[in-house]
Amino acid sequence: MGKKVAVLGAGPMGLAVAYQLARDGHHPIVYEADDRIGGMTAAFDFSGLRIERYYHFHCISDHAFLKVLDELGLSEKMRWIPTKMGYWYLNQLQDWGNPVALLKFRGLSFIAKFRYGLHAFISTKRDDWKPLDKGNAVQWIQRWVGPEAYEVLWRRLFDYKFYEYTSNLSAAWIWSRIRRIGRSRYSLFKEKLGYLEGGSDTLLHGMQFDIKKNGGEVFLKTPVTKVVIENDSVKGIQTPNGFEQFDTVISTIPLPFIPRVIPDLPSKILTQFKNVKNIAVVCVIVKLSKPLTEYFWLNINDPEMDIPGIVEYSNLRPLEYSIVYVPFYMPGEHPKFAQPDEVFLGKVKKYFKKINPKLTDDDYLDIRASRYRFAQPIGVPGYLETIPNAKLPINGLWVADTSYYYPEDRGISESIDFGRKMAQDAVR
Ligand SMILES: Cc1cc2nc3c(=O)[nH]c(=O)nc-3n(C[C@H](O)[C@H](O)[C@H](O)COP(=O)(O)OP(=O)(O)OC[C@H]3O[C@@H](n4cnc5c(N)ncnc54)[C@H](O)[C@@H]3O)c2cc1C
Repeated sequence: MGKKVAVLGAGPMGLAVAYQLARDGHHPIVYEADDRIGGMTAAFDFSGLRIERYYHFHCISDHAFLKVLDELGLSEKMRWIPTKMGYWYLNQLQDWGNPVALLKFRGLSFIAKFRYGLHAFISTKRDDWKPLDKGNAVQWIQRWVGPEAYEVLWRRLFDYKFYEYTSNLSAAWIWSRIRRIGRSRYSLFKEKLGYLEGGSDTLLHGMQFDIKKNGGEVFLKTPVTKVVIENDSVKGIQTPNGFEQFDTVISTIPLPFIPRVIPDLPSKILTQFKNVKNIAVVCVIVKLSKPLTEYFWLNINDPEMDIPGIVEYSNLRPLEYSIVYVPFYMPGEHPKFAQPDEVFLGKVKKYFKKINPKLTDDDYLDIRASRYRFAQPIGVPGYLETIPNAKLPINGLWVADTSYYYPEDRGISESIDFGRKMAQDAVR
């Protein structure tokens, strides 16, 4: 007989949990606080264009994501595109992302280029992350690339993503990002990234349909306010609609919410969840009548710009207009996060003017900002030892978020993979 299971959160991980359970003959009920499925991948109406609030692209190593597409009969919606990467440095746009671009890069000595390239190459070939787990990311990179390449090519990417957390990041966590992009290529010279026709919505709605078809349910605007525990066992969940009995509960909501939603956990575990630090994001999306650049991904090193890069999404997915994302990452406690949207919108217009002086006010068709407070848990050295197991010492209770697949960076594919495995373990 199938089990009735409560799933908290309808982001990619919560949907993957329910998808697996429903396909295995169980009865998952997904509770989502928001008025939509998708979490960070949810789309919105951007003056007539349905698009994600936060950019999403795919790499050829996104196996779990590609597998679900295949199972849902959606593989033909996947598109792979040769993309171009750029670097804004010394007030100019420069090609980036392949050996020739590195050799031609202006503003860096040959030896610094060589050391940078060697590190990137070896990181892409590497598989074993354990020796890097306890290492410090900045020290690891500095050791390989030297002070000059670190200063020019790395420092601002760290400073404008992690701020004061930069000095305590795991080398394994940073390495996994270098590897993910590095391995998504046709060859050493050509990068290959993917997008889904219709955006993440295509996947999300496919999964939701499958969950319902197989006997599961998804409730929107239904935040779980408490997971009820008695005698070390789960008894059920509390929502604004009342109490519902369950003996298995799987949470996929960001860890910082757990102490409030499951306050009766052992205090050591509550402390572990409280100690996880997160980066927030204010992500500006711009609709332009003409392209900003020819690059999909543009790294930035400019003392006048407090961003690590820009994603010109329409240079990956062809759209009627030019769509550019500008993520401002920062610790949620940083005073900048309290600034109104207008501050970020103003900065973006200023930065775009500098990058492409031909852009005029008339080229701006729309511009918005979205915020996600818990956009990314910080992967400190030895991260997995700082959090409890997904299977908590309470019968029937499982908790995970994007940080549980450390050293991998948060990603749709990783959330799906982890969610499906956790679902199978939880009903075993
Ligand atoms: C700027 C940005 C860029 C990104 N780029 C990429 C990319 O290019 N490629 C890629 O693969 N990934 C990318 N990601 C990451 C990707 O979006 C995430 O890995 C993925 O969405 C995580 O899914 P999740 O289900 O684990 O968590 P989330 O998406 O955070 O979902 C958690 C859900 O829980 C819900 N919730 C919270 N509290 C409660 C409650 N009390 N009760 C019920 N529900 C609750 C939330 O509303 C949310 O829907 C990006 C993310 C950001 C922010």
